[in-house]
Amino acid sequence: MLSSLIGNHMKINLCGQLYYVCSRLLDWHKCLGHMSEQASRQLMDNTKDFPCVKIPKSTPICPGCAQGKMASKAFPDSQSRAIANFELIHLDLKELPMILYHKYKYFIIFVNDQSGSMFTFNLQQKSDTFVAMKAFKAYVRIQQGKTIRRWCFDAGGEFKSVEVTAWLK
Ligand SMILES: [Zn+2]
Repeated sequence: MLSSLIGNHMKINLCGQLYYVCSRLLDWHKCLGHMSEQASRQLMDNTKDFPCVKIPKSTPICPGCAQGKMASKAFPDSQSRAIANFELIHLDLKELPMILYHKYKYFIIFVNDQSGSMFTFNLQQKSDTFVAMKAFKAYVRIQQGKTIRRWCFDAGGEFKSVEVTAWLK
């Protein structure tokens, strides 16, 4: 027998062509990269010769999607604080739910670990993150007479640019 099974949903016929053997909506969902139910239905409705798929009355829960949507536990509160003022700064970039009047779409927040004081800057683009970081560092140096020793941020792409990486070294 020349045909062989690939995964649970695809087979190769005698001509070497792949074809699907799924008949359930959940199988198609998994086979097509966990696409949404709405997109799956559109695919079925708008694709010529799409095989007949049984659509259940209640949507089955996909374990993979359910796991992917679970919120991770918050980190436990830290019991230690920076000793010097502005020694350690936590920062994060957030997207606003709507674009503000001056076309600000993001804001960056700086938290002084020692005091807990916060500072925010509105940004039009994510790429403005570097400018905001330099402006905050200058503020701390000039207005507060302090030097930032450490920055703490997540692995967001805005902090991974070549210029930010080079500036932090
Ligand atoms: Zn899924």
